[in-house]
Amino acid sequence: MRTIKLSNGKSVEVECLSCAITSGLIEPDGGVVYETEHFHAHQDVAYPIKGLIILASKRHIKSFDELTEAEQLDYIQVLTKIRRAQRQTLGIEYVYYFYNEDTTHHFHTWMVPRYEWMYDFGRSVESVRPVLLHARRERNGEEDIQEVMKALDALEIALNT
Ligand SMILES: [Zn+2]
Repeated sequence: MRTIKLSNGKSVEVECLSCAITSGLIEPDGGVVYETEHFHAHQDVAYPIKGLIILASKRHIKSFDELTEAEQLDYIQVLTKIRRAQRQTLGIEYVYYFYNEDTTHHFHTWMVPRYEWMYDFGRSVESVRPVLLHARRERNGEEDIQEVMKALDALEIALNT
């Protein structure tokens, strides 16, 4: 078990955060943005960045090569759909995608939008970790959260209509 600190300040103890979220045990802030048979998209609970999406598999797997064919197809279609919605709804020009296999959570892909303010932390991918930490520590005020939630609502509508 490990303790996860949520962006609302509360802490929860879980075995696998991705399982807890995709099964509905933990309701991520802003709820489920989009869901398919195999995947579950939500705003990351700890990093308040507008339009940041975590796409998690519903199955407890670690690696890309564990995806079934149906999951592979679903994955690329969902990623594409979310990316399109980020562009059309929030005007997001660039997104960083990453997933890591040495994690205590299961298979999930981060979709991190690039914003102007992030240039203070570096030109490209080297800025991602500092940007995430900065968002968690400094962009966590009530207004920041409201903006994040507004963006999330817009994405949710775009993805589900
Ligand atoms: Zn899991």
